Amino acid sequence: MLMLVLPKVGYQCLLAWYHQKKIKLYVQQYAGINMERVQHRTVTVANAPLADIDTWFLYLRGKYDLVGPSPMEFDDACKLHRNKRTRFNVSPGIISPFMVKRTSGIAHQDEQQLAADFAAQATPKHRAQVFLIWSLQRIFGAPTRRLYSPRQFKLLGVTLANVSMKEAVNRVVKSLNCDTQLGDATKFAFVNADCANKYVSDAGYQQTLNTFDTVFADGIGVKIAARWQNIAVTENVNGTDMFPFLCAELAANKKSVYLLGATHSVVNRVAAKLNREYPELKVAGYRDGFSDQADAKELHRAINQSGADLLLVAMGAPRQEQWIADNAASLNVKAVIGVGGLFDFYSEHVSRAPIWLRELSLEWVWRLGAQPLDKGKRYLLGSPLFLLRASLAARANKSITTTANAANKELNHDLL
Ligand code: UDP
Repeated sequence: MLMLVLPKVGYQCLLAWYHQKKIKLYVQQYAGINMERVQHRTVTVANAPLADIDTWFLYLRGKYDLVGPSPMEFDDACKLHRNKRTRFNVSPGIISPFMVKRTSGIAHQDEQQLAADFAAQATPKHRAQVFLIWSLQRIFGAPTRRLYSPRQFKLLGVTLANVSMKEAVNRVVKSLNCDTQLGDATKFAFVNADCANKYVSDAGYQQTLNTFDTVFADGIGVKIAARWQNIAVTENVNGTDMFPFLCAELAANKKSVYLLGATHSVVNRVAAKLNREYPELKVAGYRDGFSDQADAKELHRAINQSGADLLLVAMGAPRQEQWIADNAASLNVKAVIGVGGLFDFYSEHVSRAPIWLRELSLEWVWRLGAQPLDKGKRYLLGSPLFLLRASLAARANKSITTTANAANKELNHDLL
């Protein structure tokens, strides 16, 4: 590594000297293992840091590890509460688990929590796993172009919100604190590559989604399609990952939830597990998604009388979005979300991919293996079809927007 870095640094110093630019040395104090002070020197040329050689010296001297929580400035570390300092039980790392999760778009926990969790289980196997995922991300995933992060963008005709998981949960919770009348529920949905394929050939579904207040960007397919338009998806926001964060917030805010969808045994298990895991969260009621829906009035009455703040509808797309659009006017809940297969996962009726596969954005491989007959068409035919559609749309869009102002792009970027 040093053999690669040193000639580069030497060359840049020569250039700096030739162009008479200032070479400066900064010394920063970081917190090492057991809060030991670690001096980290950075050489800058005209205020831009040169290759970070000191990191590697510190690594060779055993002050940094290859994998570990990201180095934290000593003063900031001192401000942490004592019981939040467990991250310093191990050395800081050049590659941090947070960096890996952020690259994969699933950095839903905050950095402190991830660092503490890593320190608690920093086995060689766990370190090797983080290193391997980081390497694969570098080989396959890292974007080479500068990407924009607009607050929303259009994917094949539907406007998607480009937000982090935290912002997404906040949006839902905020909608629960609004004063609403009958029929005023805020509507949320998720869109992944499969949904996009469906609404491209189903104008009704597309129109319905565009009447929703917020549609979240879910999955690697949407991320790739966005990247083709130089858009960075902030985070993969899907219902299953959102659920624990949402439940924690609902419990803290004393809100109640009604569960509608999946089979009777699945939704029953979801309600029981929620009562166990979040005793503060009130499950106002639940019903399966296969019962005869003919008596809609009776169902509206049951949901309204339950006093639920939030309604989760898990009937798969586009059925659930259509159900929401058709029935919202008769409901007095504050918000409603279409959550797809969430109940199947939460009840453990269908197993979820291990975290390392999700970090590599390969959850679809697991789902394909688990339900080959159900999901074969969706992933083996649907995914290439979606990518083809998205790339054609991106090409067409580029020819329209090449002259457009980059500032406009930042505000609201259209992906046809
Ligand atoms: N489902 C339902 N009623 C129906 C059809 C499906 O409640 O008429 C449920 C089904 O039991 C499953 C969920 O909807 O729990 C659909 O899961 P899937 O993984 O297909 O949804 P996706 O996340 O792909 O939209």
